[in-house]
Amino acid sequence: MDLGLSKDEIALQQRARAFAQAVARPRAAAVDRDEAYPWDVVKALAEAGFLGMTLPKALGGKDASFLDVVLVIEEMAKCCTVTARIVVETNMGAISTVMAYGNEAQKKLAAKLVLDGDKPAICITEPDAGSDATAMTTRADKRGDAYVINGKKHWITGAGVSKLHLIFARVFDERGQEQGIGGFLAVRDEAKGLRVTRREQTMGLRGMPEGELTFENLEVPASMAVVPPSGFRRGFADLMTAYNSQRVGAGTVAMGIAGGALELALHWAKTREQFGRPIGEFQGLQWMLADMQTQLTASRLMLYTAARSQGAGGFPDPMLAAQAKIFASETAIKIVNDALQFFGARGYSRDLPLERMARDVRMFTIGGGTAQVLRTLVASKMLGWKLPQTRDGYMPKPSLRDAAE
Ligand SMILES: Cc1cc2nc3c(=O)[nH]c(=O)nc-3n(C[C@H](O)[C@H](O)[C@H](O)COP(=O)(O)OP(=O)(O)OC[C@H]3O[C@@H](n4cnc5c(N)ncnc54)[C@H](O)[C@@H]3O)c2cc1C
Repeated sequence: MDLGLSKDEIALQQRARAFAQAVARPRAAAVDRDEAYPWDVVKALAEAGFLGMTLPKALGGKDASFLDVVLVIEEMAKCCTVTARIVVETNMGAISTVMAYGNEAQKKLAAKLVLDGDKPAICITEPDAGSDATAMTTRADKRGDAYVINGKKHWITGAGVSKLHLIFARVFDERGQEQGIGGFLAVRDEAKGLRVTRREQTMGLRGMPEGELTFENLEVPASMAVVPPSGFRRGFADLMTAYNSQRVGAGTVAMGIAGGALELALHWAKTREQFGRPIGEFQGLQWMLADMQTQLTASRLMLYTAARSQGAGGFPDPMLAAQAKIFASETAIKIVNDALQFFGARGYSRDLPLERMARDVRMFTIGGGTAQVLRTLVASKMLGWKLPQTRDGYMPKPSLRDAAE
């Protein structure tokens, strides 16, 4: 199928496929069973040049586009979801934020860590601030040339394995005046106030640790504050634009898992016989196959389009990224579930990867902005209204409505 990929993009896709089949696939079951972060795969990814591809050449990267990364992620996700997420988070998300808004020292630090195999952690969510991220209570108090961070985050991907952390906190100046929400870079050093205080017990993606982080008087030099030109007051929205790339990456992992599951189901449809004929000869299954392929193709087109929309500012279009993640994550859950059905009892067994894929794929309507919250974002852009979700500010003010008309 011609999806408008260039020769270079097709070559990259083929190289990623060969890597995924030779290196990632053989490790996937053990990574899940042992709940162990695959450092050997990380080393191989670094050697193959799949980490930090989007970094500028001057910092050791390849100046790769988000579409390049999407092609790599898709191939990895067909074979091993944890490997795919490592590719996402060493090319998108926190690292993109630093490259867009960081100072030179921050960029050098982040690039070196990523190229050496670090998967940066992005720390936003708190027990009482999930979808409502701006309700966060973690605070950063200015003390001379440093900020002192106190608070707690949970469900942080890479807790305990990531070195670089981009921590979001409410910022207070020396007089105790609130300045807005800012991002701060810290390299993990448990002795100095950044501790992993819990590992989450997850349904899937078990080789990628999710954890609770506690900051106790974590001192971060003021030079490690990531401040966009809009400053702290409006900076959170700017810093969060990096999530538009992360969303495309997360949607692609889901789509890749679905593609891998569909390949297995298609092969089984041709080889498994019942009633003296391959089960693929039954129309009930043929129509399932057609629906699965249609949903997969639509997801792929949406994700590629969102990745290609990477503008001059460096990130994909928010509307396209949100729609692609909603659609790809929801259809992937269905495709994997249907692929498992093709295998009957075998699909339900831990001997095959289908049950692992079904557990892994479930998270993508939750992490990185839930499917509901992303729908609100899409609707808000469609209406041209801000849609504050608090009870007292829920309805758009007449002035906003007037402005949209
Ligand atoms: C595997 C995984 C990895 C993650 N990694 C990270 C990470 O690295 N860093 C990080 O900071 N966070 C991370 N998260 C956290 C994730 O971003 C949050 O789980 C997510 O933002 C939702 O927050 P919540 O879980 O508190 O759910 P809640 O916000 O409590 O939402 C509960 C339910 O209510 C719905 N809901 C909430 N508000 C609205 C609304 N206004 N309209 C309609 N529905 C609404 C939600 O969609 C959801 O269905 C991760 C989560 C998972 C599962």
